[in-house]
Amino acid sequence: MTLNILFAAGAARWQDYQMPLREGLAEAEIDANLSLDLDPAEVDYIVYAPDSDLQDFTPYTRCKAVLNLWAGVEGITNNATLTQPLARMVDPGLTQGMVEWVTGHVLRHHLDIDYALARQDGTWDRYVPPLASDRPVTILGMGELGAACAQALVGLGFPVTGWSRRGKAVDGVTMLSGDEGLDEALSSAQILVLLLPKTPGTVNLIDAAALSKLPEGAVIVNPGRGPLIDDDALLAALESGHVRHATLDVFRVEPLPADHPYWAHPRVTVTPHIASETRAASAARVVVENIRRGEADEPFLHLVDRDQGY
Ligand code: NAP
Repeated sequence: MTLNILFAAGAARWQDYQMPLREGLAEAEIDANLSLDLDPAEVDYIVYAPDSDLQDFTPYTRCKAVLNLWAGVEGITNNATLTQPLARMVDPGLTQGMVEWVTGHVLRHHLDIDYALARQDGTWDRYVPPLASDRPVTILGMGELGAACAQALVGLGFPVTGWSRRGKAVDGVTMLSGDEGLDEALSSAQILVLLLPKTPGTVNLIDAAALSKLPEGAVIVNPGRGPLIDDDALLAALESGHVRHATLDVFRVEPLPADHPYWAHPRVTVTPHIASETRAASAARVVVENIRRGEADEPFLHLVDRDQGY
């Protein structure tokens, strides 16, 4: 039987995904009609991105699963017309990209590379940066990305504390959960990395009270989601010097408006949501594997828990 697979992740992404998906389907010996345009009643699987024009899933009566190309799913979890299973993206390329971005920015602040760059004036000032073992790092959100980043940082010698909803163990990491665990995780965080999803339970988690629990001079690195942080509270903490620097990749409004105070702030680094990107070659393999599983009556990988919102 030929499967009808709708690519509903936009014409621009179609250029990148068409070939890897076709090759993956052929390798898996799945006979498929992959297209940007199919009769909804005939569609078996939807390859999706939340910025898609497709927002009403009601006519897709035969669809067995919606396979999202993004890791973050806050743009689709509240869609009441979506009754089919929703799988999110867990892609080795995405994970590797995040590990590199987080490690790079943590090392920048750990080694105070900015200080060296600002001292290119003939001054022979032999300041000695601490070793990683003297720089506790906390990661909030210890899922696919947070756990991989934690392990890379542990490998470099940083003492890493992780905080997650269920506090699942991760090798070499002090794992915490709950409100008390959060207080403890914040109080030791010389560098705080945010890798939580945006859900009702995580919005504004980093508010004035949370910021006040960080050690004086802490650094925040946020590649998770913009709404995790109360922006006014962060700006106040930067003004007072309680937070030394914030490196922010994600924002409440994207693109970050040109007049937003973050752009001009001397102790904020803005990157334009580039911490990590889904890579077509590896992501296509994940999509094909889920279609194979669907056809073999095996459980789908990376299913979203719609009640939890991630
Ligand atoms: P994931 O595997 O679903 O992990 C999410 C983690 O957050 C889990 O450890 C989970 O706890 C924890 N969590 C969720 N709600 C919580 C709560 N209320 N309290 C405490 N912990 C909570 O997600 P992922 O693949 O690592 O991705 C994380 C996020 O990164 C994505 O949702 C997305 O927002 C962001 N992201 C950004 C970029 C970028 O380029 N900037 C790229 C990709 C992803 P449990 O382990 O207990 O479930």
